[in-house]
Formats: sequence, structure tokens, C-alpha cells
Amino acid sequence: MPRAGKKNEPFSVRDVRGRSVLLHACCAPDSTAVLDWWKPLVKRLAVLFYNPNVYPPDEYERRLEAMRIVSRRWAVELIEDEYEADAPAFNSAFEPYALEAEGGKRCAVCFELRLRATAQKTQELGFDSFATTLTISPHKNHRLINALGTRAGAEFGVDYVPTNFKRQEGFKRSVELSRELGLYRQRYCGCRYSLPERLQTDE
Ligand code: SF4
Repeated sequence: MPRAGKKNEPFSVRDVRGRSVLLHACCAPDSTAVLDWWKPLVKRLAVLFYNPNVYPPDEYERRLEAMRIVSRRWAVELIEDEYEADAPAFNSAFEPYALEAEGGKRCAVCFELRLRATAQKTQELGFDSFATTLTISPHKNHRLINALGTRAGAEFGVDYVPTNFKRQEGFKRSVELSRELGLYRQRYCGCRYSLPERLQTDE
């Protein structure tokens, strides 16, 4: 089982120091604390915004615009992958699990699709390794994400950096940094199925 850093570390410094890393950003707020940690350590750091799970398109645009603000703040290259609302690859993979609660099989499929795409882009662009900001979310299982990331890395011949960015108050730090930057903060995870779930929970 891949592990994040020792003890209470959110990642292992030796996995990223002096290396070239492509960071998959699930959203701008979650990226802030990670970029703050990694910008001084990583030799070549770029962010990939690949989230075709997000629905509807105007929500995607809002999240992408916030990501542009964050990439400028930490002076990192932002790679904006193509977005297609209701992408067939996502929809057909999600459909069998549409009624599952957030955190179930649907999310595993969603993580895997995004991690595989990031691994492929890492290989194509010549980075050493890749990681994802997904592990900072209190709603997401970092062990599952790290296992899927490691498998995707092996498939494409690049290293996956296991993390648990929730550690050392990573999530709290991301909320504070997002507030300082006045970032848009979404109220649901992203896909059309999570939209009613989360809004119902809030009621
Ligand atoms: S709830 Fe979030 S992680 Fe789960 S499938 Fe929807 S967008 Fe993906």
C-alpha cells in the first residue's frame, strides 16, 4: 500500500524535492495549501486542471477561473485540459453507480478516470511524477486515491506521489488561503449526482 510521508506528514519531502511534478488540481481552493508547500521544493511544477466530472458548464467555468487566480498567485504553469459537459466517457462509467452516495463506487471511478488521464499527461509532457490535490478533502479517502494513483503511474511508467494533504491541518490552511485570495468556493463536489446530494445535506 503506498504511503504518504512518515508520522503525521502530508507527503514525503524526498518524493518531490528537486523533481518535476505534474499536480492534478481538483479545484482551486484545494490547490492553495499544496502549492504553498510544494512551490519551494519542486524543481518543475505545473498544474493540470482536468475535471470533466464537473457539471454544469457554468460551474466548470467558475472553478477554472478560480484556478487561474491560484496559478498566477504561485506562479505555476496551468494546463487547462479540454472540457466537455456530460462527457460520454464519464457518463457511461458513472451511470451504473448514479444512485450511490458520495464516497461510493461512483467516486472511485471518477478518481480513476482523472488519475489515469493525469498519468498519461505526465508521461507525454516528460514530468517525473504526478500527484493530486484530491487527498486534501475531508470527504475523500486518501488510501483509495493513493492506490489508484499508484496503479495509474505503473500503467504509464511514471511515479505517483502518495499524499494525505489533510495532515498538518492542510484542509484548514487551504480554507484560510482561499479566503485571503477571495476565491470562489463550490458547495458540492462536482458531478451532476453530487449536486442534489450536497445541497440536500445543507438544507
Ligand atoms: S461526488 Fe465528486 S468524486 Fe464522486 S463521482 Fe461525483 S464528482 Fe466525482
